Amino acid sequence: MSVSSHASSFAAPRTDAAGRVALIGLSLAEMQATFAAHSLPGFRAKQVWHWIYHRGARDFESMANLPKDMRALLTEKYSIERPSVVTEQKSSDGTIKWLLAMADGQQIEAVFIPEAERGTLCVSSQVGCTLTCKFCHTGTQPLVRNLGPHEILQQIMHARDMLGEWPKPGEKAVSGEGRDLTNIVMMGMGEPLYNYQNVAKDHALHLRRRAADC
Ligand code: SF4
Repeated sequence: MSVSSHASSFAAPRTDAAGRVALIGLSLAEMQATFAAHSLPGFRAKQVWHWIYHRGARDFESMANLPKDMRALLTEKYSIERPSVVTEQKSSDGTIKWLLAMADGQQIEAVFIPEAERGTLCVSSQVGCTLTCKFCHTGTQPLVRNLGPHEILQQIMHARDMLGEWPKPGEKAVSGEGRDLTNIVMMGMGEPLYNYQNVAKDHALHLRRRAADC
């Protein structure tokens, strides 16, 4: 599974407490644009993209085909962030549930469900939810905010970290065969079709009322 380099991100570049720009969630074009500010040519962004999304690199020092001074620059200016794990629960059937904390401390769940023919990762799209489905614990929580594309990506990357599904040094990075994680469903916390930035309040209220009736 790789991330399309053509997908456009609608998240503005984000910085951490140290002022480093987070790369996850940027499109390739956005990564190239931010690198251009340091006079780095476009192919350097493609190399970093490959390391992040095809090889699972979590730091710039491991990007062996980049010049040493570029790795130092990237380490100073950029980050490849992952959510932090609050809890991990494993059941006897192999299901793993992670409670993950985002950069602002908000917590969401991601669940990996292994089956004979496939392995499914259930990712969250919102913190809380506007709907109130009666069978669902999240439905008792108010919507706090939408997750950004980077935070949805981070769930997938976290799962691949935990499942050991990035290619090892020297292995080819193209094949998806033999992986545990084969499917992704947007069935965690939140309603993905309502993950857009400006939900009109009266529309959200209408949804809440309608869901309360189901
Ligand atoms: S839409 Fe999903 S997350 Fe929201 S209350 Fe219903 S089942 Fe729960």
